[in-house]
Amino acid sequence: MFKSLYTPPITTFGEKSSEYLNNLIKTKSNSGMAVVLIDKNFYEKNNNLSFLKKINKKNILLINHKKEPTVQFIDELKNKIVSNFSKISIVVGIGGGSMLDTAKAISNLITNPGSASKYQGWDLLKKPGIFKVGVPTLSGTGSESSKTCVLTNDKTFHKLGMNSKFSVFDELILDPNLNKTVEKKQYFYSAMDAYIHAIESLSGSFRNSYADNYSNLSKNLIEEIFLSNNPRSIQNRSKLMLASYYGGLAISSSFVGLIHPISAALSVVYGFKHCYANCISFRALGEFYPTHYKIFNKMCKFNNIKFGKKIKNLKSDDFEKLVISTLVHEKPLYNALGKKYKEILNKEKLWEIFNRI
Ligand code: ZN
Repeated sequence: MFKSLYTPPITTFGEKSSEYLNNLIKTKSNSGMAVVLIDKNFYEKNNNLSFLKKINKKNILLINHKKEPTVQFIDELKNKIVSNFSKISIVVGIGGGSMLDTAKAISNLITNPGSASKYQGWDLLKKPGIFKVGVPTLSGTGSESSKTCVLTNDKTFHKLGMNSKFSVFDELILDPNLNKTVEKKQYFYSAMDAYIHAIESLSGSFRNSYADNYSNLSKNLIEEIFLSNNPRSIQNRSKLMLASYYGGLAISSSFVGLIHPISAALSVVYGFKHCYANCISFRALGEFYPTHYKIFNKMCKFNNIKFGKKIKNLKSDDFEKLVISTLVHEKPLYNALGKKYKEILNKEKLWEIFNRI
């Protein structure tokens, strides 16, 4: 009937707040080294930003996320980091949701031995990770405020997070100047992740007043931003950073619903990235979320975002993998459809849904 909620203890918010990162790195690296993981695309577009210039190059590792982080990728990266850096005292992640999740996972694995796959699930980490700082450059996933870091396992077809109080960032820096150079479509897809978190939480049976309030804040901000004439104004970029942050808080105390499991299956089987996969899944699930589906379509139209048909000639072996990867998300499906979710989401229904995508 009650639960403990873990949120990042310190959030520094506002234009140019990224300038504060260097002080933080200096303070925290008194006792050891700093590892600064930066999204390669972001770095290449923005390396003239003064806060990036101030970071010592020897502490920077550029990460190119061609696809979302897998367990195998994280294990290799961790091994590379521990052999190149000694006595690490702070891990910083600068980038979108994949980058933030990567930073959290690395921080956790430096203190918790073994492969990342050991910790996919709920409350499996034994110790707090290294002091971790999140600096989002893309808004929507809510990774900055959530208590998970989602990893894909190519062997088991599972996409599952390290859900733990130890997966919460120790500090956040939310600087709306950093999401300025995001490509237009990506800006939209990522924002819709926050929208989807909010509506799934609001429509689920695990809803509670804490999650509802953050969901409503997030949902209203997203509708306001994407039905305005300039979704990328500085005011709207600031609002979007908050919408993402609130969405992460909402989902930390409730669950996603049906869109995320379908989307996760699309990521596992076809490699579609999370936020885009959510959008194309939502388009096939209007019957489950009729009110918000209409608003979602209105926002797509208003922003001239189009999605064509993505799955043509669905093969039966791919379908079997999609089924496994969808049904592994028991809690979100229960949240969305109740105890009898397997009856509602039988193979026939799943076949129909995936063929709509
Ligand atoms: Zn999401």
